[in-house]
Amino acid sequence: MNTHILRQEIYLLGKTLAGSRFHRNLQFIRSHQFLPRWELMAWQQQALERLIQNAYERVPYYQQQFTIHKLVDATGKIHFDRFTELPPLTRETIREYTPSLISNDIAKRKRIIKLSTGGTTGDPISPYADLQYWDWYLAATYFFYEWMGLKLGMPYLYFWGAPQDLGLQGYNLKSKIWVNLIQNRHVLNCRALSEEIMARFITEMNQMPHRKHMVACVNELYDLACFSLDNKLPITHPFEGILVTTAALTEEMRQTIQSVFHGPVYSRYGSREAGDIASECFFQDGLHINPLFSYIEIVDDEGKPVPPGIEGRILITDLHNDVMPLIRYEVQDMGILREYTPCLCGRHWDTFEQITGRLHERLILPNGATFGKVFLHYPMDIFTDLRAYQIHQLAPDTIEVHLVSPDPNYLETHQYEIQESHHRFQSCTQNMLKVSYHQVAELEKAPSGKRLVIINKIKTSQASASAQRPEPSIPTL
Ligand SMILES: [Zn+2]
Repeated sequence: MNTHILRQEIYLLGKTLAGSRFHRNLQFIRSHQFLPRWELMAWQQQALERLIQNAYERVPYYQQQFTIHKLVDATGKIHFDRFTELPPLTRETIREYTPSLISNDIAKRKRIIKLSTGGTTGDPISPYADLQYWDWYLAATYFFYEWMGLKLGMPYLYFWGAPQDLGLQGYNLKSKIWVNLIQNRHVLNCRALSEEIMARFITEMNQMPHRKHMVACVNELYDLACFSLDNKLPITHPFEGILVTTAALTEEMRQTIQSVFHGPVYSRYGSREAGDIASECFFQDGLHINPLFSYIEIVDDEGKPVPPGIEGRILITDLHNDVMPLIRYEVQDMGILREYTPCLCGRHWDTFEQITGRLHERLILPNGATFGKVFLHYPMDIFTDLRAYQIHQLAPDTIEVHLVSPDPNYLETHQYEIQESHHRFQSCTQNMLKVSYHQVAELEKAPSGKRLVIINKIKTSQASASAQRPEPSIPTL
């Protein structure tokens, strides 16, 4: 028997003996992924109504919210057409009202866990879940692994930085055997990459040609790819699939990583608290949203849905977390949905055209106009020989453009591009911005370790952005 099949059998047996429905859920997703669109939509609608019914019956916060916003009438009937009247569930609400967001049957549930987040802006939350949800969460993750050819038990690299996933916090020997031996995962901790560590990782990867798949943090893997090119330390074997996540993947990053690792790169979107939501398929054309796991909306500042093609706030509704339902949860990311068209892969799923950044990752001009990452393509795509950039807004009318390049005299050798970029910034902001360009060795990171493209250093910006949105009516419980 192939060792990966043996590992898979041991894993599934272990799960089944522990009372897990992971395998059943994974098979469910596999067998339903190619359903006609109307059947998928009908299934999702049913799952959503079940979730709402459960939340209404067992979760004090939603009992009150559904009543206030008339999602449920006096007879207890759910009016799903009023779903979008429900205010988005913010991180602040979750933190402040955690006890009233938890189902009153929690004592009867198996293995309660906390899905703690780091929080890109340093504002962590910790939703609760149980084994039932965890089995869906894991199934959704492994399902996307399969899209890049990684099957359960096959050897893979985990190029990752979050300590809670790396066995650094509370992992005992049993957990390590379970993850590293049975799931066949080899960790390369990319939390603090130095040149010495990057050189060692490349050597390590080259010594493990049987590990042909990788799950990776995108920015750090891009750094490693650039390091490999700059120092002529090549990766000597081809990868069959690389799944990258935790930040947006630009086309330039994809091409660089693909050329260094000799294999296709797929982008995935998700969050620790809401699981793996969407991924690119083989055709690498937008991120398909798994309709069997969550319900996604893109909304404006008032919480009302915007049409495909328009940038808005991403709201996530977990279809399977009955312990602490996250309904219209505002994950603080911005994105654009694509007008539905069937994909060549045969799935009739909704697709993110782009994840466009964090909610507060935007420039706010003196006249109040805001610009997100999408806007930056126009003034920044002009640059060549550029590894990465970051925009710092220091005042309403002042930004600094930080440029990272292997060329030590970049500002001199790319003067024309800088002038053109400056002209483009001015032309689309009505000359409101003072723009300066600086070459830097590395970019600034957020408190969580994530690297944002726009860092808004005006203290009041976040307060004014959040002040624009309606506050939900909070239960008095
Ligand atoms: Zn597809």
